[in-house]
Amino acid sequence: MVFPFIIAAPRFLSGAIQLGELMQIASAFDRVQGSLSWLVDNYADLAAWRATTERLSGFEASLADPSGAVGLQPEPAARLSARDLSVALPDGRPLLTRATLSVTVGQTVLISGPSGAGKSTLLRALAGIWPWAQGSVHLPRDAMFIPQKPYFPDGPLRDALAYPERASRYGEAELRRALFEAELPALCQRLDEAGAWNARLSGGEQQRLAIARVLLKRPAWVFADEATSALDSRTEDLLYQRLRDIVRGRGALVSIAHKSSLERFHATRWRLDPQQAQIRAESMEAATAA
Ligand code: ATP
Repeated sequence: MVFPFIIAAPRFLSGAIQLGELMQIASAFDRVQGSLSWLVDNYADLAAWRATTERLSGFEASLADPSGAVGLQPEPAARLSARDLSVALPDGRPLLTRATLSVTVGQTVLISGPSGAGKSTLLRALAGIWPWAQGSVHLPRDAMFIPQKPYFPDGPLRDALAYPERASRYGEAELRRALFEAELPALCQRLDEAGAWNARLSGGEQQRLAIARVLLKRPAWVFADEATSALDSRTEDLLYQRLRDIVRGRGALVSIAHKSSLERFHATRWRLDPQQAQIRAESMEAATAA
């Protein structure tokens, strides 16, 4: 602002221009300077805008790319079946080669195998969310997956419980009953409390809240990936009985678990062999006898 006054001051002091003209010069200078500085002033916004559009256009391109790995799309069916199912890691290492799997209504399956064998990845492939899978999969529509690490959106507890649906779909009594049945009675009074539940709840509480979600929605098919690994054995037993009860006669329960205490809730075992990239089904009684 000082610069135009310094430049115009001699003419003002000599009486060549009036004070009003001096002010006009200063104001005109200000506008020219503002216009010329537009790029400098907006540089940060422009950089952020460019980064955002690049991210979005990259996202759009990868969605449209037919050669991109999208994995297999499970088709709806009355039971779970997979034919010629091959699952690999992103680097191409096979986890499972041309497997045939089938689960009918009333079955209870325990997937076992060493840590890192690909048990969770197999469930992801069956759910259609693992891009490096091939083959054909049929999956019942009314299925829910309980992941090893459940996700809860920040906000009111009722939304975290009903996610991804709206909590308003469920009545107050239903939401409370689900928490109660999942051995979380202390949370029944806190449905309206907002928080970052993934950070605030203990590992075991998060697992119980994820199971409460399943008990709320009552799917016919439940896929549980280490869903009770952080719970004490009494609570684990109770919750497994409830999970088994809600699928009974309607669907099936497929679990991944390391704990042998959960074997009694399952009649069939799928043993994943990472060396051979194969999976073997055996009845639990036979496995116990062996
Ligand atoms: P655990 O019993 O320890 O849970 P798991 O049998 O369920 O193990 P997975 O989680 O299926 O094992 O992982 C199988 C292999 O795939 C592991 O070696 C893991 O590092 C690898 N893996 C999993 N997810 C990815 C990913 N997104 N990118 C690359 N590798 C992955």
